Amino acid sequence: MTLCVGIFGGTFDPFHHGHLTLAADFAKRLHLNQLILLPAGQPWQKAHNTTLNQVSAASHRLAMTRLGAAQLKLPETEIIVATDEIERASPSYTVDTLAAWRKKVGAHTSLSFLIGADQFIRLDSWHQWPRLFDYAHLCVAARPGFSLAAAPPVIATEIAQRTAPAHALCLLTHGLILLDSELALDISATQIRAQIRASRSTLNAAAPPSLPAPIWHYIRQHQLYQSTL
Ligand code: ATP
Repeated sequence: MTLCVGIFGGTFDPFHHGHLTLAADFAKRLHLNQLILLPAGQPWQKAHNTTLNQVSAASHRLAMTRLGAAQLKLPETEIIVATDEIERASPSYTVDTLAAWRKKVGAHTSLSFLIGADQFIRLDSWHQWPRLFDYAHLCVAARPGFSLAAAPPVIATEIAQRTAPAHALCLLTHGLILLDSELALDISATQIRAQIRASRSTLNAAAPPSLPAPIWHYIRQHQLYQSTL
């Protein structure tokens, strides 16, 4: 039987219920043997100039990803939080990340990269994006406000040619697209950070529905997102 591995990368600032649901959903649909949660290094796009968009320290994002991983109850799936990206000296392109993981897992493993629709509809702006399919499948979760109908024609063509059911992704090693139109979680890390900044007085309240309780406690303990610096 082919080994089936999923990689879910993100800034995870913080790791929230949208991330948890997406990861659990694809892990179950693909019967993943391994799920790799891959917090990004300090991304230059986000770390630049504006204080509002400043990304939290990698140590905090890693800790919150680990707390998120502990929430995932997936008996079939080994969950690994990988530090490769945050230990890297400079940010890497996704295509290079996937090439490296392909090398690690070997040529005969089914490798899937999990992303939200907001990322997928602008995939054609990514460095050497068509090569992503040489290394992995892409699993795309619906996200409110980001319709696949808005994807540019080159992406629409890929959807038409590569979309396949979950079981096909486990049989082949790379090159397919799995669409999950069931997810509809209007949660984003940007929104969560803004809410925390705006409502310091509610910091003593119970965890908001968008965050697992241990991550909310971590945010409070370390006073994350409370100042605009
Ligand atoms: P931000 O609001 O800062 O952009 P985010 O909530 O999108 O953050 P990221 O860590 O950037 O969180 O996302 C990691 C991955 O998870 C991306 O592929 C993103 O599309 C996906 N994702 C995040 N939240 C959702 C959601 N609510 N529904 C579907 N996909 C999501």
